[in-house]
Amino acid sequence: MLTRTHSGFCSSHDATGDARRRFEQLVNSIDGIVWEADPRTFRFTFIGAQARPVFGYPLAAWLEEGFWEAHIHPEDRETARDYRLAQTRSGTDHGFEYRMIASDGRVVWLKDLVSIDMHGDEPVSLRGVMVDITERKRLAAALQGERRKLQVLMENSGHGISITDGAGRILKVNRAFCAITGYQPRDLIGKTHAALHSGRQDPSFYRGMWETIAAQGCWSGEIWNRRKCGELFAGQLSVTRVPDETGAVANYIGIFSDISNAKAAQDEIERLSMFDAMTGLPNRTFLYDRLDHALRIAGRDGHHVALLAVDLDRLAHINEVLGHHVGDQLLEAVADRLRRIMRDADTVARHIGDEFVIILEQLDDPQAAAQLAERVLEELSHPFMLDGHEVAVSACAGIGIFPEDGQDPSILLKHTEVALHHAKGTGESGFQFFREEMNRASQERLQIESNLRQALTRNELRVQYQPQVCLQSGRITGMEALVRWQHPEMGMVSPARFIPVAEETGYIIDIGLWVLREACRQTRHWHDLGYAGLQVAVNVSARQFRQHDFAGQVKRVLAETGLAPACLELELTESMIMQRPERVVAVMNELRAIGVTFSIDDFGTGYSSLSQLKRFPIDKLKIDQSFTRDIGTDANGAAITCAVIALGNSMRLTVVAEGVETGEQQRFLVDNGCHRMQGYLFSRPVAAGDFLALLEQQAAGRGTA
Ligand code: C2E
Ligand code: MG
Ligand code: MG
Repeated sequence: MLTRTHSGFCSSHDATGDARRRFEQLVNSIDGIVWEADPRTFRFTFIGAQARPVFGYPLAAWLEEGFWEAHIHPEDRETARDYRLAQTRSGTDHGFEYRMIASDGRVVWLKDLVSIDMHGDEPVSLRGVMVDITERKRLAAALQGERRKLQVLMENSGHGISITDGAGRILKVNRAFCAITGYQPRDLIGKTHAALHSGRQDPSFYRGMWETIAAQGCWSGEIWNRRKCGELFAGQLSVTRVPDETGAVANYIGIFSDISNAKAAQDEIERLSMFDAMTGLPNRTFLYDRLDHALRIAGRDGHHVALLAVDLDRLAHINEVLGHHVGDQLLEAVADRLRRIMRDADTVARHIGDEFVIILEQLDDPQAAAQLAERVLEELSHPFMLDGHEVAVSACAGIGIFPEDGQDPSILLKHTEVALHHAKGTGESGFQFFREEMNRASQERLQIESNLRQALTRNELRVQYQPQVCLQSGRITGMEALVRWQHPEMGMVSPARFIPVAEETGYIIDIGLWVLREACRQTRHWHDLGYAGLQVAVNVSARQFRQHDFAGQVKRVLAETGLAPACLELELTESMIMQRPERVVAVMNELRAIGVTFSIDDFGTGYSSLSQLKRFPIDKLKIDQSFTRDIGTDANGAAITCAVIALGNSMRLTVVAEGVETGEQQRFLVDNGCHRMQGYLFSRPVAAGDFLALLEQQAAGRGTA
């Protein structure tokens, strides 16, 4: 600092050698030009800057009277003088800023730090330091300019911009921000962006965003926000952290644009790129996507997926003869028909040219694909009316089944097309599976289907009876009626083979009713022979049970045959009662009211839980034979059997074990509290005559016992 001696810095007469050196050191150490002036005239009496020119002027020039005023920038001349005068009068110390013109014409900004010594009201010395602040001024001006530019940019930007403080409180938002969000600045200033949150992104999204900003200084991505009116919109947002000089967060700047329109357009483009323009069906790309997805789900859930490739045989010919526009109409019409016959869950796609591909998901029985193929070919065999022409086409189909015919989309599709190629090779409309054994099975199924219609009218059905035996007494308590089909050429057809076909075709309704009537008639007959109390169990299929007057049907059969309702037991399956359970319960209650009883067949193979089962008025559980079979060989089978018996006992149900073949199984069942058994150990299902013989044998045994 400058020392204020009354005599001034430059009075050489009082400066010793040492003092002089110190003074020079001081002058040199200061980043400015030290001066001393006459307080009345402002003539510099000293200007210290190591004997070098100051702003290009030799030091001698500075000492001339009037130099200072003459070289002040014309615009600052008045102010500078006034200022200095004011200081000499009031005796205060001040810094003031003004411009001087350097010898080369350059304008130099100075900050003049002035120090005055007063003697009473009189200024006796005036000294100071001039600091060159040109660079700082230039920077400040530039910054001011930048700030203005930034302001203009912000206001005119089409992007929504918000500036917050370090705590995320909004300091400023621009016009576009308000236009997009519908908020006014006053709604937002001082608050956070929470009002804009859409609720679509969970807290972890925002957490991730702030972590990225903290780590990298910025974040950008898509975000869903909510306008003031409540509407959601997609925005592309970037947030930048602005640190202050110390590195602490001073501000966050958020810039975003409303991309809802762009997003909608993108969705549309995506949609267009996934669909065939002519038919509106999914195209090849989409097909691969869907197939990939379907196979993944099926692989996880253990279902089959069938792929059906359908090829029209005369498209090229129609294009040639009737014109391409008719060919196009044909493709559209085919697409329409295919769409109509598909379930919602299935996918119909246009693969290439005149080839369509259908994905059937969640198939339990791959043969269902054969039925669909038949249905498709039948549907396409009807002529089309196109542009005034009646056009007939025929088609062929190839079928591939996942997982057997291919584990991934491209292999499955390739094999399906191989099958299609074979189908075309036969020269007639039809379909082929990829594997020969599937073709045989489907052939047989077709044969069953076409013969089943006449099974009843030709009197080819029989009912066999399999005894149910009390595990305590060993006595026959009743029997299950099991249908048989004696076909003149196919021989004995197992119900496992023809019941599913009868279900699908609807023949089960007539067949089921016939079995019911036959079983009731036969049982009543045995009652009349003296075997009173025998109870007959009749299997009921889902489709049969779903008929609107099923209960009425059963009552009529009981009335016709004269069987006591309490001697009729109906066997239902878990899967069947779980569909529309309220209705099922109503039908069961109606029949139970007259004494008919119910059992759950194949128990343990469905997915029902105990709590679900409690809703149904059931009397009996039949343990599925797959569990009985495992008794003695597999610990799990035994455990499940025990669990089912315990479950049945807790619900006061009679438990019947199916498929009992060995004495070991029988003993296990007795030991674990099972009530009844049914199985080859006691008897196979037998014709009515043989069953009567069993009854007589038992009666004779009792007679002799
Ligand atoms: P289900 O109701 O579970 O019938 C029991 C099946 O197990 C019968 O097969 C029977 O012959 C067989 N079985 C009995 N004891 C043993 C044994 O100890 N060991 C082995 N391995 N098997 C045994 P079936 O007669 O072939 O019937 C198969 C299925 O067809 C029946 O299973 C039932 O679901 C259905 N079914 C049979 N008759 C009819 C009917 O009239 N209507 C309906 N809707 N379905 C029927
Ligand atoms: Mg049964
Ligand atoms: Mg069963």
